[in-house]
Amino acid sequence: MTSAMEIYQLLPKTNCKKCNESTCMAFAVALLSRTKQYTECPPLMEEEKYIDSRQKLENILKPMEGAEETGLIIHEELCSGCGNCVVACPVNVANDPYGSGKGFGPTNGKVIFRVENGKVKAANIEECRRFGKDRILCRACIDPCPTEAIEFV
Ligand code: SF4
Ligand code: SF4
Repeated sequence: MTSAMEIYQLLPKTNCKKCNESTCMAFAVALLSRTKQYTECPPLMEEEKYIDSRQKLENILKPMEGAEETGLIIHEELCSGCGNCVVACPVNVANDPYGSGKGFGPTNGKVIFRVENGKVKAANIEECRRFGKDRILCRACIDPCPTEAIEFV
């Protein structure tokens, strides 16, 4: 998982504020949470000496494109449809105790994970414990996945 420090190391580290953040570290955190894009750093985009850093940042940040608010990415090509994550997610258990929470089909629309056509799909991501300002770093869905199909970036 990419860290804010890893991103920070590739920024100009001059705290020029041209990105409208108070420091380069604040900008790095904004990049990590995907509220800003690296192209919003003018020196990084305009100055020759940052070409390498720009390329590295692009490579680091590219996998984060398409991630949900929580940073969730599902690599469908790796998912075997086993359903471990569906049963393990505490939100599924709480919101649908007699359906998804027990390994059966969902009985309502409030679940995060469900398996459709052999692949897991995510919805209601705002229900995830990693969502919002009081987020906790829940890993209940990642740890039991045998194929590493779930990632938080
Ligand atoms: S991080 Fe936790 S709450 Fe969020 S989807 Fe995974 S298991 Fe569910
Ligand atoms: S635990 Fe992994 S392989 Fe199994 S359904 Fe979930 S994402 Fe797919």
